Amino acid sequence: MNRIKAVGFDLFNTLITVEPHALDDAENRLTRSLQQSGLALEREPFKQALREGALRFIRETRRDGRETHNRFWVSAALQSQGYIVPPDDSRIATAVDAYLSAFLPYCHLIPGTSEMLSKLKGRYRLGLLSNFTHAPAAKEIIAGVGLASLFDTVLISGDLGYRKPHHLVFRRLIEQLRVEKDEILYVGDDPEPDITGAQRAGLQPVWTTYVRDRNIPPAPGVLSRSSEKADCSVPRISTWKELMTLLEH
Ligand SMILES: [Mg+2]
Repeated sequence: MNRIKAVGFDLFNTLITVEPHALDDAENRLTRSLQQSGLALEREPFKQALREGALRFIRETRRDGRETHNRFWVSAALQSQGYIVPPDDSRIATAVDAYLSAFLPYCHLIPGTSEMLSKLKGRYRLGLLSNFTHAPAAKEIIAGVGLASLFDTVLISGDLGYRKPHHLVFRRLIEQLRVEKDEILYVGDDPEPDITGAQRAGLQPVWTTYVRDRNIPPAPGVLSRSSEKADCSVPRISTWKELMTLLEH
């Protein structure tokens, strides 16, 4: 792969894993925050409504690729419990912050990730492109696990307004990496957003199955990990050593 001049990475389940109980902790923090702001909510029914709302909004993003935000599904969940609170209400903003603050302590770098990125830095332009609704929280996680200084560009869907696999987010990555699209290797774990998205945008995708191969619970989200497989013509890696080998050939 000697034409490769830049490498782009997905974040969750590609560079970092998240302990599965993070989601429950986050939902508890969110519910507590709303209760403290005076809303009488029963925890379990509200958490259920929250998950249903999140699922609905995330599914909607698949129609046009536009990113959503947690505040919309919190507002919808509150409405289902009889409270009309608009998405831009400050009580919701505070609760969403409480929700997102739960994740960082449960995030762990996949072993060898910093070393791999340090080796690539200088030889390739490096980019991070992640689907995450609230960009400041994603950037806090990236800094918190020590990755912030290793990338030439960090792009989060919450800032871009669209999610992978939408071509617009890949176009932004290409612009930021300042090389030709087919000179970019894009490494991700999720077949549709990462592999199909990168392929359609003209990048060279690499499917990482580190998490899948080790049966590590996927980063908790409202949508469970897909059982889809990437196109078998796409190179597949399970260790960073395999990525380095791929780049050397
Ligand atoms: Mg991922």
